[in-house]
Amino acid sequence: MEKNKFYRLIPKVDVLMESEEIKILCTDTSRELVLETVRKITDDIREFINESDNEADITNKIETIMQEIRKEVDSYVLFNMKRVVNGTGTILHTNLGRAVISDEAAERVKHLVTGYSNLEYDLESGARGSRYSHFEKIITKITGAEAAMAVNNNAAAVLLILSALAKDKEVVVSRGELVEIGGSFRVPDVMSQSGSILTEVGTTNKTHLYDYENAINENTAALLKVHTSNYKIVGFTEAVSLNELADLAHKHNIPIIEDIGSGVLVDLSKYGLEYEPTVQASIKAGADIVCFSGDKLLGGPQAGIIVGKKSLINKIKKHPLTRALRIDKFTAIALECVFHDYIDENKAVKNIPVLKLINRENVEIKKQADTMLKILAEEIGVNCEIKIEGCESQIGGGSLPLERIESFALMFKPLSMTTASLEKQLRHMDTPIVGRIVNDYFLVDLRTVLEGEDEIILQAFRKIFM
Ligand SMILES: *Cc1c(COP(=O)(O)O)cnc(C)c1O
Repeated sequence: MEKNKFYRLIPKVDVLMESEEIKILCTDTSRELVLETVRKITDDIREFINESDNEADITNKIETIMQEIRKEVDSYVLFNMKRVVNGTGTILHTNLGRAVISDEAAERVKHLVTGYSNLEYDLESGARGSRYSHFEKIITKITGAEAAMAVNNNAAAVLLILSALAKDKEVVVSRGELVEIGGSFRVPDVMSQSGSILTEVGTTNKTHLYDYENAINENTAALLKVHTSNYKIVGFTEAVSLNELADLAHKHNIPIIEDIGSGVLVDLSKYGLEYEPTVQASIKAGADIVCFSGDKLLGGPQAGIIVGKKSLINKIKKHPLTRALRIDKFTAIALECVFHDYIDENKAVKNIPVLKLINRENVEIKKQADTMLKILAEEIGVNCEIKIEGCESQIGGGSLPLERIESFALMFKPLSMTTASLEKQLRHMDTPIVGRIVNDYFLVDLRTVLEGEDEIILQAFRKIFM
């Protein structure tokens, strides 16, 4: 194959740079970025010609040069992180950003970060302050703990607590609680990373008080209880209550630390869910340190919140890792906001999106489904089968794994394309719509479709089918 004629067909870089389309691209983005891209794409084509023996492919490659340049430039200048519509019905979807925060909290973040703030400035004294002070008082009031602080996430909280309180010393944990959370957080690994020594006691299904008691010696720094948030052992099981563990720990003058995972501050059994241990209950039962996630059932920003005895919290605050793991101002502002909502439980349930979504009335979801079905059936019914079915939403985020909440879903089966192709097209919308494929239907669980997002879904289906 004579390749020279193809090489000659590739437009010269300076000719391309003078073309109208490229000039506009330069004005819209950056001339330097466009120039680099033009060089790269023309190099790619040269290489393609070099390697390919198919004339049609080569011609096509040369003819689509403008599209390729635009696509490459777009990959730098278009936003990659987008708001998406969550039609999965999973309220705390780890891949979709876990807890949604309220407009109010987001507005406060915006207001404070677009200016200076008193993040670490004590307005009372005019001296340096602490970034934890803004929410410490309120969270101690809500939980009954003496002191509080927060780091990047709960995994960091566990690492920090053990590093500060138990380095080179033994920490006693039940074998039933050596859990893995979200792939990379494993209790034994975090412990070894902190320099503490894991003393496993009991068995997978049963651990007794005497197992802990027998394991305590002069090198024991603490007892650790880990809430098995994301799985359940049922049947012939036994775990020691926090109360008993606290008594045992205090008899031996060592602290009892509890990682409760989700950080629930309201009794969820009042809202039709299974009881999930609250932070208040742990403090009341005698835990000296309790840590939990900010963006699970608490419904706030990603954070690891640590509450407990003042003397221990002070020791943790002074540990060098605290500086490395500290929360940023965005988180501190949003956390203060969320804790404000918890001053009054009714307010929390009304204002915090996660709790609101859990509490959404089924009849309201059904009404939303009916309205959307009516519109869509009329507009695109000839191209797509649409129906409403009962479904089950879940909490997600490794919380309450067995819990299911009755909900309603819109189910779509396109007549002119595969369901997989519909799913893909919805995923590629400007505001992507993420759902599930069930029995060859594309399912949108409306529990997690937020206010104002109905219209986004309608528009997407119109775009695909009309
Ligand atoms: C989720 C969870 C963690 C990890 O929390 P992140 O905030 O995701 O780091 C640790 N321990 C328990 C028990 C959990 O449920």
